[in-house]
Amino acid sequence: MLDHDVIIVGGGLAGSRAALEIAGLLPGINVGLIAKTHPIRSHSVAAQGGIAATLKNVDTQDSWESHAFDTVKGSDYLADQDAVAILTQEAPEVVFDLEHRGVLFSRLPDGRIAQRAFGGHSHNRTCYAADKTGHAILHELISNLMACGVTIYDEWYVMRLILEDNQAKGVVMYHLLDGKVEVVRAKSVMFATGGYGRVFNTTSNDYASTGDGLAMTARAGLPLEDMEFVQFHPTGLYPVGVLISEAVRGEGAYLINSDGNRFMHHYAPSRMELAPRDITSRAIAIEIGKGRGIFPNGSPGGPFVYLDLRHMGREKIMSRIPFCWEEAHRLVGIDASIQPIPVRPTVHYSMGGIPVNTHGQVRRNSQELVDGFFAAGEAACVSVHGANRLGSNSLLECVVFGRRTGTAIASSVITRKLPDLDEAHYLKEAHHQIQSLLDQRGQYRIAEIRQAYQDCMTSFCGVFRSSALMEEGLMQLRQIQSRYGQIRLDDQGSCWNTELIEALELQNLMVVGELILFSALNRKESRGSHAREDFPERDDNNFLHHTLAFYSSAGIEISLMPVVISMFHPQARQY
Ligand SMILES: Cc1cc2nc3c(=O)[nH]c(=O)nc-3n(C[C@H](O)[C@H](O)[C@H](O)COP(=O)(O)OP(=O)(O)OC[C@H]3O[C@@H](n4cnc5c(N)ncnc54)[C@H](O)[C@@H]3O)c2cc1C
Repeated sequence: MLDHDVIIVGGGLAGSRAALEIAGLLPGINVGLIAKTHPIRSHSVAAQGGIAATLKNVDTQDSWESHAFDTVKGSDYLADQDAVAILTQEAPEVVFDLEHRGVLFSRLPDGRIAQRAFGGHSHNRTCYAADKTGHAILHELISNLMACGVTIYDEWYVMRLILEDNQAKGVVMYHLLDGKVEVVRAKSVMFATGGYGRVFNTTSNDYASTGDGLAMTARAGLPLEDMEFVQFHPTGLYPVGVLISEAVRGEGAYLINSDGNRFMHHYAPSRMELAPRDITSRAIAIEIGKGRGIFPNGSPGGPFVYLDLRHMGREKIMSRIPFCWEEAHRLVGIDASIQPIPVRPTVHYSMGGIPVNTHGQVRRNSQELVDGFFAAGEAACVSVHGANRLGSNSLLECVVFGRRTGTAIASSVITRKLPDLDEAHYLKEAHHQIQSLLDQRGQYRIAEIRQAYQDCMTSFCGVFRSSALMEEGLMQLRQIQSRYGQIRLDDQGSCWNTELIEALELQNLMVVGELILFSALNRKESRGSHAREDFPERDDNNFLHHTLAFYSSAGIEISLMPVVISMFHPQARQY
C-alpha cells in the first residue's frame, strides 16, 4: 500500500494549483498527484481564449461587482452568489500570482497584461496568451510542481474511491505501463478529474474527458449536482467538433447563415455574436433547423453555419488567434483569412459535478459534508456557473478554487491520521473487476457500444429537450447499457492495455450519461443551457434550486438544494 498525506487525482489546472498551494503552505508534506495521462496532457492544456479577471488594464470602468453580475446573469440565476463573489474578488490576485510563477500572458503596448472581450462579459476582462492560454498556464504550474517535491503518478488510472463510514480514505489505481494495481491510502483525497464531454458524440473535449471522477463519486453513494446543465459551445468546427475559441468572436468574427445574414441580430441584438453560449448555440440550432444552415458545397439547408473572419485581416488573425486559423487549416483545409469557417454547436463543458462548498469540501447531501474528501475544477460544482458558464470563467474557477481547496486541505491535514483500511479487500476486488472484463467473451466491441451510447445522448439530450424525447432516450440508454456485459476485449495483456482502460471509461460514461438524462427529465423548465420545448419558460417558483442526483444500481433519486442568492435578485435575462 502507498501512503500519502494528501492524494490528488487530476493534473489539470485545478489539481496542480491545489498541489502547489499545499506544498507551499506545508513544506515537506507528502503529496501525491495521479493522472491517467501525463499531467501536461490534461484537457486544461487545450484551453484557448483566456481567463477572466477585472485587472482594468483595458477597461477602467470594470469592477468585480460587474464581473459577478455578468456571471450570475449568465448562469440564469442558478449560480451560488457567495461562490461567485469569491471567484470574482480573488480573480486579479490569482492572475498576478500566475504571472509571478512564470506564465507569459499577451501584453498591451505598455507592457501590462492584455484583456479581450468575451461572450456575456460586459467589459473587456479576459486575460490571454494568444489563443493558447491553457498551454501557457499548465506548463508553468507543472514545472513549478516538479520543483516542490510533489510525487507525480502519471499514466496511472484511478478505478475507485475508497469511502467508508462517510470518510474518504484513498483510491485504487491501475498502472497503464504494466497493469499493476495499487491501493493508495491518504489523510485527504481530492478529485480534480475534469469534465465528461465524451458522453456525447460531438465534443471539443479530449479523449480522456470521460467523467471518471464523477462516476466514481456517484458509485460511492454520493450525489452529483446539476447534471442536467451541459454546455454546448456554439462554434465547434464542422464536422469534427473541435473547438474554435470564442476569442475569435471576441476579436470581431461574425456568424452568418446561408442567406449571408448576421442572424444573431434576431436573438441577442445588444450582444450579437458575444451573447452567452447557451443563447448563441440555440440560435445556431434554430437557424440550421429552419433550413438556413449550409452544406459543404455552399448550398442552403445544410448542417452548419459560417464563422466569418475575412474582414479581420490576416495580420490580426495571425497575431491574436493563430491557433484557431491553424486548426481550421489543418483539420478542414480552410484558410480563414479568405474563407469562412463551417461551425455548429459542440458539447464543451460540464456545469454540474461533485457538489462542494467554497472550501472544496464535498457534500454528502444538502446539509452534511464528507470527511477528508475534496474536489475542484470542472469535476466539481461549487456552483459558480449555475445553468450556463461564461467563457473564460472556468480557468478562473480552477485556479481560484484549486488554490482555496489546497488551503483547506493544508489546514485540515495536519491534525489527521492515516485511516485504517483493508488493503487486501480492495486489491482483490480490483483484480476481480479487471479479470472478469478480460474473461468476457461477448459479441460487442467497446467502440460499437460507446458510439451507440454517445449517439443516443446526442439525439435525446441535446440543445433542445422534451419529456417524450428524453423518456425514449432513457429507455434506449438502458438497452445499450445492458450490452456492457457482452463486450469482448482483444487485448488480454497487462502492458499498455488501453482497451481495458476504454472499457472502464465506458462504464463511467454510462453512469454519467444516465445521471444527466435523469436530472434533465426532472427539471421541467428552461434555464440556461437546459432548453425544454415542453416547458419553454424559466420557472423560479418551482425550479430555482439545485438538483442533487443520487445513483444506485436500483435507480436514481433526486433531491433539491437551495441556491445562495446574496447579491442579485433573479430577473428576466435579456441581451
Ligand atoms: C478546447 C477547450 C478550450 C477551452 N478554453 C477555455 C478558455 O479559454 N477559458 C476557460 O476559462 N475555459 C476553457 N475551457 C474549459 C477549461 O479548459 C476546463 O474546464 C478546465 O481546464 C478543466 O480543468 P480541470 O483541472 O478541472 O481538469 P482537466 O484539465 O480536464 O484535467 C483532468 C485531470 O484528471 C485526470 N484524470 C481524469 N480521470 C482520471 C482517472 N480515472 N485516473 C487518473 N487521472 C484521471 C486527467 O488525466 C487530467 O490530468 C476549454 C475547454 C476546452 C475543451
